[in-house]
Amino acid sequence: MVKHKYVYLFSEGNSKMRELLGGKGANLAEMTNMGIPVPAGFTVTTEACTKYYDDGKKVDENIVDEIIQALKDIENKTNKKFGSEENPLLVSVRSGARVSMPGMMDTILNLGLNDNTVKVLAKLTKNERFAYDSYRRFIQMFSDVVMGLDKRDFEDVLDEIKEKKDVKYDTDLDCTDLIYVVKRFKDIYKKAIKEDFPQDPKKQLLLAITAVFSSWNNPRAIVYRRLNDIPGDWGTAVNVQAMVFGNMGDTSGTGVAFTRNPSTGENQIFGEYLINAQGEDVVAGIRTPQPITKLQKELPECYEQFIDIANKLEIHYKDMQDMEFTIEQGKLYFLQTRNGKRTAAAALKIAVDLVEEEIITKEEALLKVDPSKLDTLLHPKFDEDDLESATSVARGLPASPGAASGKIYFTAEDAKAHHDIGEKVILVRLETSPEDIEGMVSSEGILTVRGGMTSHAAVVARGMGTCCVAGCGDISINEKERYFIVKGKTYKEGDYISLDGNTGSVYGRLIKTVAPEISGYFAKFMAWADKIRVMKVRTNADTPRDAAQAVSFGAEGIGLCRTEHMFFQEERITAVREMILSKTEDKRRKALSKILPMQKEDFIGIYEAMGERPVTIRLLDPPLHEFLPKKDEDIEILAKEMNISFEELKDTVSSLHEFNPMMGHRGCRLAVSYPEIAEMQTTAIIEAAIEVSKNNNVKIKPEIMVPLIGELKEMKYVKDIVVNTVNKVFKDKDIELEYQVGTMIEIPRAAITADEVAKEAEFFSFGTNDLTQMTFGFSRDDAGKFLTCYYDKKIYDFDPFQRIDQNGVGRLVEMAAELGRKTRPNIKLGICGEHGGEPSSIDFCHKVGLDYVSCSPYRVPGARLAAAQSQINNPRK
Ligand code: PEP
Ligand code: MG
Repeated sequence: MVKHKYVYLFSEGNSKMRELLGGKGANLAEMTNMGIPVPAGFTVTTEACTKYYDDGKKVDENIVDEIIQALKDIENKTNKKFGSEENPLLVSVRSGARVSMPGMMDTILNLGLNDNTVKVLAKLTKNERFAYDSYRRFIQMFSDVVMGLDKRDFEDVLDEIKEKKDVKYDTDLDCTDLIYVVKRFKDIYKKAIKEDFPQDPKKQLLLAITAVFSSWNNPRAIVYRRLNDIPGDWGTAVNVQAMVFGNMGDTSGTGVAFTRNPSTGENQIFGEYLINAQGEDVVAGIRTPQPITKLQKELPECYEQFIDIANKLEIHYKDMQDMEFTIEQGKLYFLQTRNGKRTAAAALKIAVDLVEEEIITKEEALLKVDPSKLDTLLHPKFDEDDLESATSVARGLPASPGAASGKIYFTAEDAKAHHDIGEKVILVRLETSPEDIEGMVSSEGILTVRGGMTSHAAVVARGMGTCCVAGCGDISINEKERYFIVKGKTYKEGDYISLDGNTGSVYGRLIKTVAPEISGYFAKFMAWADKIRVMKVRTNADTPRDAAQAVSFGAEGIGLCRTEHMFFQEERITAVREMILSKTEDKRRKALSKILPMQKEDFIGIYEAMGERPVTIRLLDPPLHEFLPKKDEDIEILAKEMNISFEELKDTVSSLHEFNPMMGHRGCRLAVSYPEIAEMQTTAIIEAAIEVSKNNNVKIKPEIMVPLIGELKEMKYVKDIVVNTVNKVFKDKDIELEYQVGTMIEIPRAAITADEVAKEAEFFSFGTNDLTQMTFGFSRDDAGKFLTCYYDKKIYDFDPFQRIDQNGVGRLVEMAAELGRKTRPNIKLGICGEHGGEPSSIDFCHKVGLDYVSCSPYRVPGARLAAAQSQINNPRK
């Protein structure tokens, strides 16, 4: 029997093997086969990682044998030997999942060093300082990443020695210092682990590989996966590669670079490097890196070669590349290439430029941009006037664009906690690390004191579309005591600051923000998307302002206008309360007649904003008691107005209390109990449509939507009210117009009996918020509290209120669509739950043949793109 292969040499793989070798491994293999200088190495596959978990967290013996075999290949290629006392091989061990997970997985460099090989290395390189520098780095990384020791203990030792010698940088330490550092590091290790630092390189290697496998399930990785929809069962591969050294003196160095600017998309090499340094130094922000263009002067031959290869890689991968390289004594090596993360603005520019440079097609360009990131382009900038009177107090690197104002907090936990209670938060850190991810997600903006454009904060913030100013050395920070000082002024926890991620400026106060303008690239790109997609994109909007905003973002209609939102306005709520609390139909009608002109005015505004675009208006949905006064003083005021006693009103208010209002007297049930409410709303809708049609010479075709239907007769009852009312208005106004009456499908029974419901309903709009709630049987308002536990225990991978649950809720949608079409072949089908703006759910809607999706205004461009991507991936007529 042929044994299953779990380890691949770089020369045995290629970029198509991403699932098996991970992104990094597949690209290292591809580069190797393209003849690019890559240090020899091999990849332990993602399947080995999955097997590790299946086997109860054990690395299989056969896999160990394969690893040893592959190691021999590196030994042969490098003419070095693992653990040799003549010419020792040192390796790096890095994780590499199918998609890159920045900062989530851990890297170990210089593995293979021990008390003997360090001496040999010193002798061979005639550079004792270099050897001990490498050894101390290895001990620290191994202790931190593999054994889980606190890296601060190690940094404290370095700081202590630097302070004693009165020097600033690690590079200022001499060999004797480093020998002492190594001793101190080993002591820390022994004290914590109760064993000497492992001296056997094979043992080091297996422990390191195991650590990478188990880091797949560390809490940071789990959070990152959840935020980025990465399935938990993919596993990570491990790359083992011969070391090359950037810390071998002034003709050595290491850096990271992008083929184009990842913030703006400008077609110009962009990156940083450090001479005489190892990889971690560039991202850790301890020394400030040099811009890559300076390398041209410092090591011109290496620079030329680097640019040559960078161009070759970009054309080969047809995308902007993010590369890591090391120069060892004048010889250039590539350690990684991948499609670079970028801001949404850069993504658009790069996609459009690559089409214009004839490197990719329009379809390929459309697939390159993440639809969920497009709304970051639409977010506010600083108000120019307010900004004019503000002077910046400090300047850091413009790491991720956008503008942010908020209260400062100094730990990820504090940032999250204050965000959760509704504050706008700015996270201020010395530097961020993967542990900070949840705090970063909760923040409007991120400010770090250390770190360059490729630091953790910069990379992660750009990925999330969050404004970030990094490496702001003007600030002196005390994280422990939670304050920072800049220009003599102290900013404490809870104080306001503002950040400009485009310039790197930091302001010591709140600055107002305004809506952004959209670039020419945006329009061009979106026009390509519109030409391709078959699904329409509407918006959920309740006000003329939101409607107009959505139209400017490309909305082709309103898929859901929630009329109840109009009831809450201050000048209306009293009339609404009177209507609810009236004991007789007569009194209710009287109160409704006060509301009618206001409702009509709203609909006129919306029709005017939308022109002839379709507008679906939903009849009143929420339980009535939501509109009632809660505080005694409000009840008192209302009682006076209604001319009844406080006690009587309070009793009526309590009688409307429901134990489970979400499943109570709401939706079409209100119209069944109080037909006069539906009559008033229908009158307002139709009268408004007639008026705008006449005045603006447009043809308005109202769509009236009945919420929460579960039974055909219910639908028929409400539809009859609507139709009779419409006929009455037509007669009164002596004019007729086309209109439709449809329903939301948001109760499982409606989905199951959709063929019957379609006898009356002229269109369906899937209300997947309620449909999810009712199908799962958990409340959309409370589920957040326990769902985290479900993610942690891997019962659910994602929030079903954000992404449609295709296996359950999705099946109901599919079934209802089919049944509806059976009864009414041309029935119009759409979705207006939150899922209508989420790319994977939009793709699902495309596959089941919906006519449109409807989402909030800022998600409209993303939905247009997602619909185009679906059509490219699965063409539909
Ligand atoms: C829904 O339930 O999906 C819906 C759009 O309605 P609402 O969110 O107003 O209940
Ligand atoms: Mg609903």
